[in-house]
Amino acid sequence: MMKDTVLIVDDSKIICSIIKDILVSPELHIETAHSGEECIKLSQIIHPTLILLDVIMNGMDGYETCRILKANEMTKDIPIIFITGNIDSDSVLKGFEVGAADYVSKPFIPEELKARVRVHMQNIKIQKELKVLMEELKVLATTDSLTRLYNRRYFMDRLFEYVGKDEEPFSLILFDIDDFKKVNDTYGHNAGDTVLITISNIFKLLLRQEDVISRWGGEEFMICLPGQSIEQAFTVAERLRNEIGNYTFVWDDITFRCTITGGVLQYDRELSTEKNITKTDKALYLGKTTGKNHCILAY
Ligand code: GH3
Ligand code: MG
Ligand code: MG
Repeated sequence: MMKDTVLIVDDSKIICSIIKDILVSPELHIETAHSGEECIKLSQIIHPTLILLDVIMNGMDGYETCRILKANEMTKDIPIIFITGNIDSDSVLKGFEVGAADYVSKPFIPEELKARVRVHMQNIKIQKELKVLMEELKVLATTDSLTRLYNRRYFMDRLFEYVGKDEEPFSLILFDIDDFKKVNDTYGHNAGDTVLITISNIFKLLLRQEDVISRWGGEEFMICLPGQSIEQAFTVAERLRNEIGNYTFVWDDITFRCTITGGVLQYDRELSTEKNITKTDKALYLGKTTGKNHCILAY
């Protein structure tokens, strides 16, 4: 595991080494700096977990140093504990105003200093864990667990976003796997799942970063192509359909093929979203009733 780093900043080398002696522990990496300028420079390089910052220093003082650290994207989230000889409420308040997380007063009580550092380290750890958890939650809420494509709800949110962009044309493709029930019936449900995952991966591989690919329902996929006219979308849809039609699926040493049918529509902002989706769905349905394995334009 990477060690946490504490940066001690004090223009007195003696104070730095006293603090270092108090904090020293196998889990902690300690660095020192002796001016505000050095602190700012070093922080950007080593990105410390926590900074202990002397308020009164020659040249740039602690308040100014703190202000600069807080204004920089790279260093703004590093908690800063002020080391201060003045514990009058004005200087303490000023420290909090410029963004300090806490303060310790000189002369230090070693146990207090250690305890404050420990508390802030723990806070940082919890915050980091929370951030990871929030990211995981976001992924869970917006994606489909089998295919890792976006889910329908997320797709709708993004669709409304594009609808709101006044001028830019965009298109939709709705795909449905042909005779997918037969795949399940013949090779089993797990084979069916593998087909869903493989098709999703082919979509991801062939489409652009900005295209929004979703699992619309069981074996249906809705794709939004920003900036694409219906002609461009049709070309894309046909390319995807051909790639999948030519792909050899393997399950338990048996190989088989799958085809898809698509409905393609250029979104019409004069109509409701519901109507646009219905038109796409109807084009897909027409594709199904006229032989499958082709793409149909919705008008
Ligand atoms: P069509 O060409 O008309 O689309 O025929 P189809 O058999 O693909 O369509 P149908 O709607 O009759 O069947 C869809 C099947 O998709 C039935 C359902 O069990 C299967 N399915 C839906 N979701 C999943 C899934 O997550 N995993 C697997 N393996 N099968 C699924
Ligand atoms: Mg189907
Ligand atoms: Mg279906």
